[in-house]
Amino acid sequence: MDQPVTRFAPSPTGLPHLGHAYSALFGWHAAKEAGGTFLLRFEDIDPNRCRPEFEQAFTRDLGWLGLSWPEPVRRQSEHMADYRAALDRLTGLGVLYPCFCSRKDIQDEIARAGAAPHGPEGPLYPGTCRHMDPGRRAELLAAGAPHALRLDVATAARQTGPLTWIDREAGPLAAQPGILGDVVLARRDVATSYHLAVTVDDHLQGVTLVTRGRDLMEATHVHRLLQALLDLDVPTWHHHRLLMNERGERLAKRDGAASLAALRDSGATPAEVCDRLGMESP
Ligand code: GLU
Repeated sequence: MDQPVTRFAPSPTGLPHLGHAYSALFGWHAAKEAGGTFLLRFEDIDPNRCRPEFEQAFTRDLGWLGLSWPEPVRRQSEHMADYRAALDRLTGLGVLYPCFCSRKDIQDEIARAGAAPHGPEGPLYPGTCRHMDPGRRAELLAAGAPHALRLDVATAARQTGPLTWIDREAGPLAAQPGILGDVVLARRDVATSYHLAVTVDDHLQGVTLVTRGRDLMEATHVHRLLQALLDLDVPTWHHHRLLMNERGERLAKRDGAASLAALRDSGATPAEVCDRLGMESP
């Protein structure tokens, strides 16, 4: 691949930690070693969890590590019209349906059904609102009932036919678009979702190599389906290993000591942090 465009796309919901540093360095090296471009993007669609001070911390700490990126940085919250346009197109294809279920409704339905299809992270959405009587659906919509928009994955996959995608490590893979069930593409409270925004943005920003953690491998199957439905460019992916804490769990915000700010305050240098991650300094 010549001159790849990669990106690091954190959600600014906490202080950046070693896991973020690893992922950002991974994307930076993948771009720079091939003469390409590394982008930073803030995935800040959740107003309850994202905070400007965390965004500033990412800018500060990644800069401290020696990473740089072109400005301005894309902030998803500033591009809702792009996601709206994608939703309109999907509505036109007849692959979205409104879902009025609360979390509790979903749990109750799963308990009632006894068995629900399972995904990698537990039971999948049982499809309650996909089967809703059209009259009832129209009534609820007319009454302004709060709802999410879900992707009717089976209908969508019938439209696209079989799809494949390439992971630089795992090789070519047959897409399993149903792996996460009928995912939410527009939340009740926010008119987009992770899956939709990330897919639209990677296309609009010309990202050709998506580098991110293996925890998002399942999501890629869904993103591939969205790309086919929306006629978007298809990048290559490289899902990298995840950093673990001493207990063998995935490193997370709660491992406060691993925050880059704490490491810096305790005297660690950027070179030492890179070294600890097994990465070359930028
Ligand atoms: N914003 C996502 C996260 O912080 C990453 C999205 C991606 O790299 O596709 O987990």
